Amino acid sequence: MNFDRAWIDANLCTMADDGLGVIEDGAIAVNNGVIAWVGRRAELPAGARETTRCDGAWILPGLIDCHTHLVYGGDRAREFEMRLDGASYEAIAKAGGGILSTVKATRSASEDELLASALPRLDLLLAEGVTTIEVKSGYGLDLATEARMLRAARRLGAERSVSVQTSCLAAHAVPPEFAGRRGDFAEHVANIIIPAIAAEGLADAVDAFTDSAIAFTAEETALVFDAAQRAGLAVKLHADQLRDDGGAALAARYDALSADHIEYASADGLAAMAQAGTVGVLLPGAYYFIREKHLPDLAAMRAAGLRIALATDHNPGSAPILSLLLTLNLGCTLFRLTVAEALRGVTVNAAAALGLRDRGVLAPGKRADLALFAVNRPAELCYWIGRNPCLGRVTA
Ligand SMILES: [Zn+2]
Repeated sequence: MNFDRAWIDANLCTMADDGLGVIEDGAIAVNNGVIAWVGRRAELPAGARETTRCDGAWILPGLIDCHTHLVYGGDRAREFEMRLDGASYEAIAKAGGGILSTVKATRSASEDELLASALPRLDLLLAEGVTTIEVKSGYGLDLATEARMLRAARRLGAERSVSVQTSCLAAHAVPPEFAGRRGDFAEHVANIIIPAIAAEGLADAVDAFTDSAIAFTAEETALVFDAAQRAGLAVKLHADQLRDDGGAALAARYDALSADHIEYASADGLAAMAQAGTVGVLLPGAYYFIREKHLPDLAAMRAAGLRIALATDHNPGSAPILSLLLTLNLGCTLFRLTVAEALRGVTVNAAAALGLRDRGVLAPGKRADLALFAVNRPAELCYWIGRNPCLGRVTA
């Protein structure tokens, strides 16, 4: 057999079947950016043009951060400081804080500026073994800025060796020019923004934030999802983060790729998601940062056979976290995910949350996206806090 390149003296987490799919003393070979062979090192056929010894390192599928808001203007450190000093939410809003401060900063940023501020954040994720990232819009809330955010997100994939999936999250919040007219804005998103974004090919999916108090109702979200389906785009949903608004069931009804957050989702909603093949994406960084206390119902998720993914939710307001490895630790520590659940959550199940069937496992025919780690056992990827054992990445 002829291989472009092989890695030997490695231990593999293939993510095959339901667990980690461990192969100790393994080898992996690739051809033309595609995995050609995976197995025990002793059985590796000869014929690799280049062979790399890994000295017992562990190789995983390249990590996938399947939920981020990586592109935005400004940050919210001042607001964080004010809250710690005892300022009320009202005082912060009056001082121009909250999500609308990020909208203002994003609207005033050029595409180049959005790209330049996102790149160093992206680099931190890549340094931990991330090879695929999802990036949402949602701080423009008007067509021009939403499109600019998505163009900047697409350019991240040209500037670095990483796959970028984009989601149009225009239905994230109500912009000031639509104050008091939430329903009108949902219609504007459905009738104007989504068709234009789709026509330009800027989004791979449409996302929305269902929350009856601070975002959109289930009915308004349905308008947005109907528009996405007319445009041929898959949907995802920020669902049941702060209360149970039936977001999990709504996502399932639309065969959503994923419903994310889902701390307050009911057992029935979670079962509907599992039935529809909708992935549940847990975001422990946001749970931690906003000091949420209501745990997602892991028992109901497991009973339903729900596929669970884990992501950073990186955003300037509720999750300024730039580490998928720390996210693994938070998922295990706060939510009690097992090591296998957590690691599948940033590989095979994160791929499913993005509708990507060509990655997330080490198997012949899959993309040759790999992450190499200097650890003695995979559990270390979830165990350490603030240590990055990533030796490098390979991207197709
Ligand atoms: Zn989010």
